[in-house]
Amino acid sequence: MSIKERLERIWSTLPEGVNLVAVSKFHPAEHIMEAYEAGQRIFGESRPQELAAKAAELPKDIEWSMIGHLQTNKVKLIAPFVSMIASVDSDRLVAEIEKQAAKCERTIDILLEVHVADEETKSGWDIEELRSFIATGALDTMPHIRVRGVMTIATNTDDESIIRRDFQRIRDIFEELKPHFGKAFDTLSIGMSDDYPIALEYGSTMVRIGTAIFGARVY
Ligand SMILES: *Cc1c(COP(=O)(O)O)cnc(C)c1O
Repeated sequence: MSIKERLERIWSTLPEGVNLVAVSKFHPAEHIMEAYEAGQRIFGESRPQELAAKAAELPKDIEWSMIGHLQTNKVKLIAPFVSMIASVDSDRLVAEIEKQAAKCERTIDILLEVHVADEETKSGWDIEELRSFIATGALDTMPHIRVRGVMTIATNTDDESIIRRDFQRIRDIFEELKPHFGKAFDTLSIGMSDDYPIALEYGSTMVRIGTAIFGARVY
């Protein structure tokens, strides 16, 4: 199946209002262009240098989403153009995004990445730490950041009950935090190639799909 056919198949399964981030990390620009020509506009990358290089050579109406772990010293590489940083997992990173977005005179959408999976290695806020950080009010005084919602990666397992538990946890966290941030807080980013149909059951508004569109990544 071509990239276009795979995309069309996925689009047809997404309810109205659910955004698709086509995760193009490790895939060449030609493949991104195939998806672009089919009509896809939102692309996700996990490494800031790769993201900046691709953004420089590809069409300017692509909305780039940073989905991988981001070091504070790399924020400036992507701040001038990135549409969303979906992997915000520390107060230092929040502060740096505010600083760099202000320099570029932009407002950057962010998602708070929360750790709900079993693996210790997974990134994201511990929910208690995130609650404490939100309670400081720091996020409410950053005019160049718009907090759009939460993101997580479910446990990597064949046990569907664990994946469902993770999605229920993040869904509960999304509902818990929503009143603090108000109307702009509308994004629950869950679901990847293997688990997005389940994520949709838990109210995902943004799925992040790589392999099912572009095939296996060659690292
Ligand atoms: C790589 C990645 C994806 C896409 O994973 P696939 O299994 O290829 O669909 C989604 N989200 C994040 C955060 C990723 O790093």
